[in-house]
Amino acid sequence: MTRIPVTVLGATGVVGQRFVRRLAGHPMFEVTRLAASDRSAGKTYRDACEWRLDGEPYGGLGDQLLLPSGPEAAMAPVVFSALDNAAAKEVEPAFARAGALVFSNAASFRMDEDVPLLVPEVNPDHLGLLPTQRSRRGWSGGILTNPNCTSTVLVMALAPLHAAFGLEAVLMTSMQAASGAGYPGVPSLDILGNVLPYIGGEEAKVEREVAKMLGTMAGGLAVSAPMAVSALCYRVPVLEGHSESVSVRLKGDPDPEQVREAMAAWKPVPQQLALPSAPLVPIRLHHAENRPQVRLDVEEDGGMSVHVGRIRRCPVLGVKFALLGHNTERGAAGGSVLNAELAVARGYLAAVAQGVA
Ligand code: NAP
Repeated sequence: MTRIPVTVLGATGVVGQRFVRRLAGHPMFEVTRLAASDRSAGKTYRDACEWRLDGEPYGGLGDQLLLPSGPEAAMAPVVFSALDNAAAKEVEPAFARAGALVFSNAASFRMDEDVPLLVPEVNPDHLGLLPTQRSRRGWSGGILTNPNCTSTVLVMALAPLHAAFGLEAVLMTSMQAASGAGYPGVPSLDILGNVLPYIGGEEAKVEREVAKMLGTMAGGLAVSAPMAVSALCYRVPVLEGHSESVSVRLKGDPDPEQVREAMAAWKPVPQQLALPSAPLVPIRLHHAENRPQVRLDVEEDGGMSVHVGRIRRCPVLGVKFALLGHNTERGAAGGSVLNAELAVARGYLAAVAQGVA
């Protein structure tokens, strides 16, 4: 298969570097253009930023010149965006207007009713928002978003329960990694030996995004699911991996064993299609009392599966469990790449303007 040329926007950042590493040798996509802010454009990738991941430095692209973040300089049929919200708001529509499919990590468009907020295992049918988006906004490309990292991990565990029983209420308390705040992120003197009980905007994002993803499609738009979601978000001194403590109220009040069985039996679309970035098993179920743990579990499956353990009766809501997922892989770069694999497999790239390679 000829690989599809792709651009990485925000290539110098925490998520951008993960895109570059993940896409090196990808069977469907080939990074042909790297872009960042005007501060970095014109420099080589190596000179513009310090590579902070293991594996081949700069994904082998250290000598490539960074481009300005606009379609005039950096167009490709598929664009992976690791821009912050303010930049994304300006830059991503310009690429969509020029005909690119933009896979965004930013919050700027996530809640727009014609923009897919996509986790391929959870709501692949929300790709159906693209035709609405194209006709409403008059562009031939499109913006597809992945959720906030905390929402991504949570919705992966909730989706099989919503499908099997129906969710009525969710209470989630997170213990979120420092890398979730980008680089350099939270000052070390604030986070070392500490737990911070506030992450600006995070709780509201989780509450809104989960309901949108578990919602239905009606008249070409996404309608949020009518469920109560309550999130409490904490930052903890962990490098990678968000841990979440989850209680759920489910229709019919299933017992913990039925909940475990529903998660174990879940074989959603990316696994059925064997998409290149899909983990073999989307939810890894743990039996030991002291798992999942960040240090032992979060890197399994390249960070693309989520981990569930300690499924128990909850005297308040019915069932509770411990959840863990990788914030910068499944919750960011890996999630976006899987979204793009699904969009290509479902034929959405065919409509993109020709001649932009
Ligand atoms: P980051 O490390 O701060 O990187 C930001 C990137 O955006 C850099 O490459 C920067 O380039 C570029 N940039 C900044 N202003 C720009 C502008 N005006 N025009 C063009 N490029 C610009 O941030 P991050 O943690 O990778 O996060 C990137 C996005 O992913 C954010 O929207 C974030 O909310 C989201 N996200 C992050 C995580 C996570 O766990 N970190 C998880 C999910 C989603 P320069 O180096 O040239 O400044």
